[in-house]
Amino acid sequence: MSSYLVLARKYRPQNFAELIGQEVLVKTLTNAMRNNRLHHGYILTGIRGVGKTTTARIIAKTINCLDVNAISNSMACGICDNCKLISSSHHQDVIEIDAASRTGIEGIREIIDSIAYAPVMAKYKIYIIDEVHMLSNQAFNALLKTLEEPPANVKFIFATTEIRKVPVTILSRCQRFDLRRLDELEIVNHLKNILIKENFEAEDHALTLIAKASEGSVRDSLSLLDQALAINNHQHLLTTDLVEKMLGLTDNNKIIDLLNEIFGGNTQNVLKLFYEIYSLTSDLSQLLLDILEMLHKIIASKAVADYKISSISPAQYSRINELASQLSLASLMKIWHLLIKAKTEIDLANNQKNSFEILLIKLCFAVCIPDLQKILLDVKSNNLKKNDVNLSSNSPETAKTLNQQSLSAELNSNQENDSEIIAEIMRNFPEAKLIN
Ligand SMILES: [Zn+2]
Repeated sequence: MSSYLVLARKYRPQNFAELIGQEVLVKTLTNAMRNNRLHHGYILTGIRGVGKTTTARIIAKTINCLDVNAISNSMACGICDNCKLISSSHHQDVIEIDAASRTGIEGIREIIDSIAYAPVMAKYKIYIIDEVHMLSNQAFNALLKTLEEPPANVKFIFATTEIRKVPVTILSRCQRFDLRRLDELEIVNHLKNILIKENFEAEDHALTLIAKASEGSVRDSLSLLDQALAINNHQHLLTTDLVEKMLGLTDNNKIIDLLNEIFGGNTQNVLKLFYEIYSLTSDLSQLLLDILEMLHKIIASKAVADYKISSISPAQYSRINELASQLSLASLMKIWHLLIKAKTEIDLANNQKNSFEILLIKLCFAVCIPDLQKILLDVKSNNLKKNDVNLSSNSPETAKTLNQQSLSAELNSNQENDSEIIAEIMRNFPEAKLIN
């Protein structure tokens, strides 16, 4: 596992231009630098792995870089002694403190005492205090006086994941930046660029899965990518299959198998398959989301001709289309509503496994209930035939119209209430009154 963490380190942004996704921060800071209006205290907040410490080091480098144009261009050279030493956390004027391990007053006293001494080799002495919310009240109070009137060549950069725990008195003396988490697409693109540089390739969906799992943290996404490459034995192509296994995700084929059995109403097979999946993953909330995601693909491909399903294999694509043809849109919507409703129940259940079993049985039962629309359609078509009208119930046009009507009936009622649906159908098909 010698490559573990290598990517996160190797591709750590070295200057503002390389810092992705933090446009507001970059613009504000570069403007301040250009106009020589740097604040003496900054506080950076955001989830872990979003780039707080990295940003702090970039600020430290840019204002201490030996390149005369570094500040006006907001671009640290990256190669001078100051840049190199700051990048490797070895610069004696850039002091990095982890407040989580030094919460007491002593650590802060050391800082306060050292502030009186001029920087040794850099223009500014910079204190980077990570997880600053961990400091004790006493430590915060000691820091406050220094923060009010620091010497001109001293800057403070605080980083925290929990901004609410930082006293207002500290916040009011700093300029605050909220580092936002990156969205999936930004992370996927970032990973793609890195893979090109590293001469690897990955299936699109494999990277989407990594981006999803990293929840907006670039560092986490790179660690996962490293891990995946290592498990893959550094072979050229990284597959979705491998990433799914690494992340412990239920693979798409199993979900399709499960839905196939549900659509067939085979309770016994459904439960058998469920136990198989359960032995691999105990995260049933996630399983429910996976089923919903697949069902969404099925419903969309039934409702919309040539619906584009991204990041899925051709074999799975044809299975999805086959499943879409098995049930009416109304029945699919019914399953959808039952799953959505079950989401909260499963999340809150004391015994998730039992609740999930009941849900699956309910779904099998729901598909076995005769399709009301189909019955009414048959009645209608029989009547039409009786009246010698040349229109068959199998006509794709009729089926499409009825699908749309049943969809709107479901959407309007927004619940699996059959009487509502029947009422809606009655309004659309006056002939149906015959069996009322
Ligand atoms: Zn430099």
